[in-house]
Amino acid sequence: MNGRNDRELDHLQRKNAGPMYCLRVLVLAGGVLATPSLVWADTRVVFTVDVESNEIRLPDQVNAVCADGAHCGLMEIARLLQERHWSGTFFLNVYEHKQWGERAMRDIAVGLQEADQDVALHTHPQWAYDPNRWAMFQYNLDDQTTIVRDGVRLLQAWTGRPVVAHRAGAYTADEHTLIALERNGVLLDSSLFWQYPNNRLDTTTLPRNVPGNYGRVREIPVTVYLREDRPGVLQTVFDPVTVVRKIDPNWFINEAEMRAAIDAAVASDLPVLVVFFHSFSFMGGGAPGSRLADRHAIEMFHAMLDHVAQKHLKVVSMRDLADEDITRTEPAARDLVPRVTMNIGIPRYAWGRLKASRTSSRAVGAALTILLAGAALVVARRGWKKARSTAASSRTSVTSGVRLR
Ligand SMILES: [Zn+2]
Repeated sequence: MNGRNDRELDHLQRKNAGPMYCLRVLVLAGGVLATPSLVWADTRVVFTVDVESNEIRLPDQVNAVCADGAHCGLMEIARLLQERHWSGTFFLNVYEHKQWGERAMRDIAVGLQEADQDVALHTHPQWAYDPNRWAMFQYNLDDQTTIVRDGVRLLQAWTGRPVVAHRAGAYTADEHTLIALERNGVLLDSSLFWQYPNNRLDTTTLPRNVPGNYGRVREIPVTVYLREDRPGVLQTVFDPVTVVRKIDPNWFINEAEMRAAIDAAVASDLPVLVVFFHSFSFMGGGAPGSRLADRHAIEMFHAMLDHVAQKHLKVVSMRDLADEDITRTEPAARDLVPRVTMNIGIPRYAWGRLKASRTSSRAVGAALTILLAGAALVVARRGWKKARSTAASSRTSVTSGVRLR
């Protein structure tokens, strides 16, 4: 942390898939139709990557090559960013040193920095503290202060740079986390994921989707949008299913959704667009040694890089945001959650309705009825089309027959 940023922050006041889908996209910001013709330039993009083990050991993710020969590891993500001269922010779960050793973790941090990437702190406390308490909010203020302090010390020693940004594992930050960051001089947090069940920052006065300040810590939320899923037929009959989505290559149905989500964020004048990714995002299922690449995620990521470049959006890291005079970018940000509407087809729509209404058996019954009705409709339409096609071919035959005569 440096004195300049301290002074700057002192001035701030705390304040409040696939080709089968028939797609139609409407970009709506705050309920008002917005168009992509608005000025594009002001939204800045931060590519963020949470670096951690899942069922795949972190050391095995670093330079992974998948079964089809695709480079599908953490460093491939870094390479794709570096190729465009962009720096993403990689939130490293430093506490995994208990499992893999400090040397392995330091090598990851140094390797990312040597690829011109920014390394920040990610806190999954169960790796080094209480194995039964996986969420930051399960620890009291003093414990969280210790967790952050230990992580900052490790990361700073490995990278030789101040630790300026943090994301809580599984978005489990609460207000104590932000105070713990402040106590340790960490300037930025990016744990707020609006309406995510683990998130405990929704109860604060922090904005949902634009930067806000909590004491001397600046919150840069994970960018979200509302996706309204429609069945593609009988839209006046069936209500849309609305879900909160983040800008994540593993979450998009297809490229059109990715482009619509980014365009909607920009049309809403969000000052910062936080893209979300994991170190294992390019890796699919399969056994070690024959693991499949997640082709869909890789394609989404490539397409996203192209889209950001085509729109001339500025790419920055969390460190860049911490370095600048953030008071200048503050005033005009409206806390909008953009809407993206997609026609997703009947099966996916019915499934969404089921998930949305799983607490009510009556609602489940209704959703199943919708599914069956939808399926019946599809069958009926196919039958009708077939009949029409048969009739048309009969007419053609007759006509041809007439001509032949
Ligand atoms: Zn994590």
